[in-house]
Amino acid sequence: MDTNTVRIMDVPIYKMGFDEAFKKFIQFSKGNRFRMIFTPNTEMVMMAEKDIEFKDILNESDMNIPDGFGLVLASRIRNLGAIEKIAGIDFMTRILEYCDRTGSSIFILGGGKGIAEEAAKRIKATFHNIDIRGTYHGYFNEQEEFKIIDMINEKKPDILFVALGAPKQEKWIYKNKSLLNVNVAIGVGGSIDVWAGRSKRAPKVFINSGFEWLYRLLKQPTRFFRMMVIPQFLFKIYYEKIFNR
Ligand code: UDP
Repeated sequence: MDTNTVRIMDVPIYKMGFDEAFKKFIQFSKGNRFRMIFTPNTEMVMMAEKDIEFKDILNESDMNIPDGFGLVLASRIRNLGAIEKIAGIDFMTRILEYCDRTGSSIFILGGGKGIAEEAAKRIKATFHNIDIRGTYHGYFNEQEEFKIIDMINEKKPDILFVALGAPKQEKWIYKNKSLLNVNVAIGVGGSIDVWAGRSKRAPKVFINSGFEWLYRLLKQPTRFFRMMVIPQFLFKIYYEKIFNR
């Protein structure tokens, strides 16, 4: 992780905005070593407070893009500067566009049965030239893992999208970083459900006003319990500010 980050509750978050983050992705994708990109939101930073292994992994990442308005707010509250929210789905889409243009190849791992295939089909319908080397669902057991890694390495994709939910996807990428022969692995969570047409992106008015989380909550009320950590997060951020922790 480079110096272009702010630290929010001990997690480094990339602060240079979408375009610079994307330039970094291009650099990574052309490099000759394995790179990890994660897309933390507020809930994930709170998870990392309780799960030290997860926090360490987020600290080992090559880039954590801020996929949550709470992180943008936290940076402001702590006077760490204005950071731009980068939605994971937008970053994924830009990567797909780039792969379409440059002939870079991808593999999609994760989601329920049929989701990765459906996402691949829709991606191909949008980006005709994209080279999708393969897909695999995200409900595999430990015995299947080596088979999956072999499959990915045989297909030699440049970019690996991993959608196993957090913190599973980050832990999986980290655990297998020395086995995976890809340039970039990126945790994309629910973005593949959006690509598969199973969940919808919020209307622009919600996105632009920072209320995408509210739309997602209204559409999927079960998220409520997950989101209970957000007020707790803001409390912690103010506490740290006031007591200079
Ligand atoms: N997922 C998976 N394997 C698992 C757990 C989750 O493939 O063991 C998939 C899930 O089907 C979904 C994606 O991971 O497609 C993202 O899950 P979640 O809703 O937890 O993530 P978020 O919406 O926060 O990105």
